[in-house]
Amino acid sequence: MVDWKKFIHIRNDGSISLNPLLSCDGGTENKEKFHVVSHAHTDHFKANKVVETYNKDGLVLMTELTRRLLQYSPITLGENYLGLKTINPGEPEKLNDLTVKFLDNNHILGSVQVEVKDYLNNISTGYSGDFNSDIIEFIDVDYLVVDATYNGEIANNRTWTPEEAENLLIERVSEDLSLGPVNLIADSGLLQLLVHKLNIKDKHENIIAKKEVAHFSKIYNDIGYEQPLGVDKSSSEAKQLFKKGKYLWIGNSLADWPFDIPRGKTYVVKNFSPSNDYAITQKSSSEDMFKVSLTCHASQREIYEYIQGVNPKAVITDSSRNQSGSITLAKNIRNKLKIPAYASSVL
Ligand SMILES: [Zn+2]
Repeated sequence: MVDWKKFIHIRNDGSISLNPLLSCDGGTENKEKFHVVSHAHTDHFKANKVVETYNKDGLVLMTELTRRLLQYSPITLGENYLGLKTINPGEPEKLNDLTVKFLDNNHILGSVQVEVKDYLNNISTGYSGDFNSDIIEFIDVDYLVVDATYNGEIANNRTWTPEEAENLLIERVSEDLSLGPVNLIADSGLLQLLVHKLNIKDKHENIIAKKEVAHFSKIYNDIGYEQPLGVDKSSSEAKQLFKKGKYLWIGNSLADWPFDIPRGKTYVVKNFSPSNDYAITQKSSSEDMFKVSLTCHASQREIYEYIQGVNPKAVITDSSRNQSGSITLAKNIRNKLKIPAYASSVL
């Protein structure tokens, strides 16, 4: 029997090492040669760490969509760069003694679960990545590292569904946008999906966004999620829009907002909790600012369904991105699923 604790290491810098030869989403250390980027969110992609892997002649692995989303970055992510290999979801790739496979996980465009089979040492390890509900294909591994963004402990007593929350938000933003400026804040991916669903391309040629966010919008648009072109706040197009007074500004946080106080209505889509009573609530500090309960992460039952889909011998919850949540989630997995589970911080 192989000792899986010798193979899986989760480091404080967010690296999920699944094998002595392969690590995901932080950096590579020691003999680790393969550096997986599971998706294009900035807490899973460290440009300086990717450069380190390039410099030691390692190989950086990601999907083609992740590569395209990350091309705003100044580092080399060219299609034909020798240090980079794109892997298509569902197509196993043999790399030295390892076979690496990616499968979609519905979080954002290009995001994947990672399966690593080490036939020499007779062990299979995997990482969920940041994952969402409704996953169709599951990786086939004995030892699974799972994201612990939501720990699934809270009772499901809300009266709204995610679909209702989304429809309500789209309705309200559309209406507000016909009257004045609207500011929409969410993580990239979810943000672009919402802009697509607003369906405003015929009325709005441009929306205002910083470079990275505008780049995401362009790629989403190219893939078929149609949306207006993002322009920088200091561009002449943006100045025209500020003057006109009816525009959509999108960003990942209010800190990106160009003025001291946002104009018009502001929706912050960062307030998900399964126990929220309402899908949209007004912030106590401002009557023009609202918190919205939407997320592109699995929660509660969806997390357990994912683990049951993979059906591993043991689960390791990622403490590097959520210390207390990883402990609660591990406990819940042991109790509900009767699968051995450990928070990475206690290993
Ligand atoms: Zn993410």
